[in-house]
Amino acid sequence: MYNKNLIVLSSPSGGGKSTIAKYLLKNYPHLKFSVSCTTRIQRPKESEGLDYYFVSKAEFENKINKNEFAEYEEFFGNMYGTLKSEINNIINEGKCVLFDVDVKGALSLKMAYPDDALLVFIAPPSKEILEQRLKNRGTETQEQIDKRLERADLEMKMSKQFDSIIINDILENSFNEIDKIANENFVL
Ligand code: ADP
Ligand code: 5GP
Repeated sequence: MYNKNLIVLSSPSGGGKSTIAKYLLKNYPHLKFSVSCTTRIQRPKESEGLDYYFVSKAEFENKINKNEFAEYEEFFGNMYGTLKSEINNIINEGKCVLFDVDVKGALSLKMAYPDDALLVFIAPPSKEILEQRLKNRGTETQEQIDKRLERADLEMKMSKQFDSIIINDILENSFNEIDKIANENFVL
């Protein structure tokens, strides 16, 4: 009870982790988002320092060499990494940290912070629905969607290593489930 301060959300692309992360951030003021570094290009609605720290490949490499990352991964040709400083700054503010990372990154965070991290997997109700949601979101080309769907099988298998799994069917139910997990594990 109330013994965790890192909540890690992960899912196949389009599974709904950003939607659930936004809900948590809106409703729990003591929760702060860990802004990751990435080498991918900024999307139109994204802001520097809010969604990501957008850096060049050379800058990312430099941060790897300086051991600044708690974990990092390559994801479809782009690098993504969680900064140790980001985690420490949020903890020093007395807040809990919310992560939106890929499945491998989530498991790395669990290895790095075994007592503090709670891993929550957001699963789509089916692959067909996942595809439909990715299409509706309209942020990827069909080719990119196909690649993400291929990866989803591996991600679903890795979900067994998570602490909790939410089947994200009816959004309202998913919000209730994440509320329950948050209230059982975090001082929010
Ligand atoms: P992720 O961050 O995991 O890639 P998103 O949160 O962006 O996924 O969700 C993918 C799309 O599906 C978005 O357009 C979102 O609005 C929609 N979505 C998320 N959860 C649900 C749900 N339970 N029912 C219907 N649509 C959903
Ligand atoms: P997107 O490009 O759609 O924003 O993110 C692609 C994937 O990278 C998502 O699964 C997202 O959760 C993941 N991601 C974002 N930041 C990090 C990070 O710091 N580390 C890892 N391992 N994955 C991340």
